[in-house]
Amino acid sequence: MDIKLLNIKFDSVKHKVLTNLSLEWLVARFDLIHPIVSGNKLFKLYYYVQDALAKEKTTLVTMGGAYSNHLAATAYYAREHGLKCIGLVRGEKAQYISHTLQYCADLGMQLVYLSRTAYTQINEGNFHQFITFCREKICFIPEGGNGQKGTKGASKIMDAVSFLNPDFVTVAVGTGCTLSGLLYDKTSQTKIIAVPVLKGFHDLEKNMTDLLGSKNQLHFEVFNEYHFGGYAKKNEILLQFMNTFYNENNIPTDFVYTAKMMYAIWDKINEGYFPKGSKIVSIHTGGLQGNLSLPTGTLVF
Ligand SMILES: *Cc1c(COP(=O)(O)O)cnc(C)c1O
Repeated sequence: MDIKLLNIKFDSVKHKVLTNLSLEWLVARFDLIHPIVSGNKLFKLYYYVQDALAKEKTTLVTMGGAYSNHLAATAYYAREHGLKCIGLVRGEKAQYISHTLQYCADLGMQLVYLSRTAYTQINEGNFHQFITFCREKICFIPEGGNGQKGTKGASKIMDAVSFLNPDFVTVAVGTGCTLSGLLYDKTSQTKIIAVPVLKGFHDLEKNMTDLLGSKNQLHFEVFNEYHFGGYAKKNEILLQFMNTFYNENNIPTDFVYTAKMMYAIWDKINEGYFPKGSKIVSIHTGGLQGNLSLPTGTLVF
């Protein structure tokens, strides 16, 4: 899979509220790239995998939770390139394996469960201390691909939408790595809107400066109040929004990331945040496989 060759589809959201405010709201359908390696994950992984192949590594090692889109994407990507892969999973092994981890295992990812304490101690800087053999064969990818290579890969997302000259580009934020990619080009006049899906996420600016360098002028705003109680938390209002948004626009969203981001943008549109005549492009970062953890019948799609 080569990100240079990707053709991204843009869907226009239609609503009389938008017409009345002369707003153009487009959704960049990165979710359509692939059912599993969808959205931003492919971009964030791209340079890690290229580097691993160039250095003749045999094994990718990365980390994530039981529902991690990143683990699923890494498992798929590794297999596509004939690389072995190991997933370090946060938390003890549960009685029932999640559909995400099952998918990873089916693709050949070796799953290693770590206690939360052990898990939080491992990062890109110290990973190799934990490995006593085959070090030269292993490529470590930080959780969520959150690192310089992830940023560089995610910058290609912006390259794919900047031809539209949007006034605003909006994105859901987990680690913030995708956001850093959108901010990579310092000459861009587009304002980036970040919608964190975690509660109490306050070190976003620090992560941005770590990834992009402190001298940069960062042109982004954070809508902090749309986490719906925290990571992977949801309520009836969010689920109803997802169903309505799908019925009206034929765009599926996932309850962990993209639904919260779209909800936030829709709410801010109604509050009059966006100046008349603005063009807003929302990045659909994928993640739809996460909806499989919902009871059947919850969603209309
Ligand atoms: C991982 C993920 C994000 C968040 O990306 P970060 O780079 O970690 O901020 C957003 N949307 C979806 C669907 C994801 O899977």
